[in-house]
Amino acid sequence: MLNKIVPGLQPKKLNKFIPDKKMLDDNVGFVEILEVFGSDLTIANAARVSFNKESEFEPVKIGYGDGAKIIGYKLSTRDEKLIQYLAENDHVTPFFHPQIRFRIKMPIFVIREWYRHTIGFARNEVSRRYVTYEPEFFVPRELRKKDENVKQGSSSEVVDNSDEQIKLMNDYCKKALEYYNSLLEDGVCPEQARMILPQSMYTEFIETASLAGYARLVNLRLDSSAQLEIRKYANIVSCMLTKFFPVSWRTLIKSDYLERKVS
Ligand SMILES: Cc1cc2nc3c(=O)[nH]c(=O)nc-3n(C[C@H](O)[C@H](O)[C@H](O)COP(=O)(O)OP(=O)(O)OC[C@H]3O[C@@H](n4cnc5c(N)ncnc54)[C@H](O)[C@@H]3O)c2cc1C
Repeated sequence: MLNKIVPGLQPKKLNKFIPDKKMLDDNVGFVEILEVFGSDLTIANAARVSFNKESEFEPVKIGYGDGAKIIGYKLSTRDEKLIQYLAENDHVTPFFHPQIRFRIKMPIFVIREWYRHTIGFARNEVSRRYVTYEPEFFVPRELRKKDENVKQGSSSEVVDNSDEQIKLMNDYCKKALEYYNSLLEDGVCPEQARMILPQSMYTEFIETASLAGYARLVNLRLDSSAQLEIRKYANIVSCMLTKFFPVSWRTLIKSDYLERKVS
């Protein structure tokens, strides 16, 4: 029962790991949570050290008297209020202590945006200088029209010949792949052969950052002005972190971004 994350209930042990991997709707890209260091309590205690104090999770029981059973642990209301106070008053450093490690598979054009979030992020990526296995390419299901507002990037309307264009996109990726393979067969080094691969190619990376770092990224990339393809990744990260940091995540993320359906 303790393995199960129920909103508001938390495993008592810090570092308790509950594996989770979510595929994107393209069935290729994914976000996998590899490790979590810390919990809501980490943040409360990072702040409480100012007064040389420490809190504990409170047990949540069902039943009465001697027959009562502990079904999980919960942050005290006092600590919940403290976390809310910290977030509202920009006391950010306690939120730097929890660290989260993800493995993410993402197309390069999305990575270019994701990697702009630099401060506090550590990343290592598969290198096409060394690997030559067949690259995969992201091809959208439908092609959106340009929005009248240039800053918006795209509208929700689909172009008339979307299916036809998507078929051409698929053909183009196949051609790029054939050319890539022929370069390798001719003995060209992978680090140069990769130059002809489109930016829709998927790659994988491992990323570690603090809860504060992810809050910053998610708040910027769940905004409706962000590209739909990156919003989908930000949404998965947000859903995962809500489970591990149910109190803190709600205080850090703009309220209308929580539970947001991005499709
Ligand atoms: C919707 C959207 C559209 C965008 N469009 C563009 C675009 O057209 N072109 C483009 O180039 N980028 C674009 N970006 C990227 C954007 O400019 C930022 O680079 C990106 O959002 C990362 O921001 P960050 O605050 O998380 O950066 P980080 O680099 O992770 O920095 C985190 C914070 O650290 C501080 N910091 C970082 N570096 C410094 C520094 N040198 N001096 C002082 N303080 C610093 C700042 O407070 C910063 O907010 C866009 C981003 C979004 C969300």
